[in-house]
Amino acid sequence: MVANLDTLTHSSNGHALIELRDVVKTYETGAGGVTVIEKISLRVQPGEFVGVVGPSGSGKSTLLNMITGIDRPTEGQVLVGGEAVHEMSENQLARWRGRHVGVIFQFFQLLPTLTVLENVVLPMDFCNVYHRKERKGRAMHLLEQVGIAEQAHKLPSALSGGQQQRAAIARALANDPALVVGDEPTGNLDTGTADEVFRLFRRLVEQERKTLVVVTHDRELSGRMGRVLHLLDGRIHLDQDNGKRTWTRQELGGDGRGEIRNTQHGIRSPHPVSPGLCPL
Ligand code: ADP
Ligand code: MG
Repeated sequence: MVANLDTLTHSSNGHALIELRDVVKTYETGAGGVTVIEKISLRVQPGEFVGVVGPSGSGKSTLLNMITGIDRPTEGQVLVGGEAVHEMSENQLARWRGRHVGVIFQFFQLLPTLTVLENVVLPMDFCNVYHRKERKGRAMHLLEQVGIAEQAHKLPSALSGGQQQRAAIARALANDPALVVGDEPTGNLDTGTADEVFRLFRRLVEQERKTLVVVTHDRELSGRMGRVLHLLDGRIHLDQDNGKRTWTRQELGGDGRGEIRNTQHGIRSPHPVSPGLCPL
């Protein structure tokens, strides 16, 4: 096979992590069918940091939910890591998502009766990727990475919004997923805190080689992402390449706080994945 010099750009035919082929989503309502995603085709390469912007109701959440399998397309195909997400059963989806996708929401959605540490351990208990004995240590390590290790034994309600979102990011990383998606994850945070969370995302892409797809209303933040999909009426009307796939040390934050490093906890466990459910 001839090497494709284009493989580092999202317009290439290299191995996409996410591929949408002619995806349509129509909701049936009392007034008839409403099409909210109009034949979207899209390829996202591993290691991309993709923002999704657009007016309210333009289909951003629906698009994200197609990628994570939270919702199903009416037509078309959704392939993530080569797997046909649109063809999976609910059980397969839950297991696949728990193992391969980290999801971050605007309102954190931590379980209120569990401590922060327990919230991060939970997806590991569901998915059995990491051995039981490793889980607490790994969860603590992830909390250290996001800079809130000292909050580990508190309930989420005792934390600030920014701290809760950091906990939710640690939870999203619990099973070391290749893909992390966020639906307005900075939407409920003040500007300074949103910026800190954004820096954390950037480190995930740069240092952990994660692929991120993040919906945001914040033009300033989206301008700092590698690529921005502009949605309008269920269509991508602009696929913007910011040409920014690497960052200076200064941009990554010189203080090392929350720095993502490859450590023994970052290495995939040799234990096989059990067929247990992974509902998170
Ligand atoms: P965004 O996240 O960009 O604000 P959404 O993806 O949430 O937009 O919604 C896109 C459109 O789909 C909106 O018009 C919304 O009202 C509609 N919609 C979303 N979910 C449903 C549903 N379950 N049933 C009917 N319409 C829906
Ligand atoms: Mg939305």
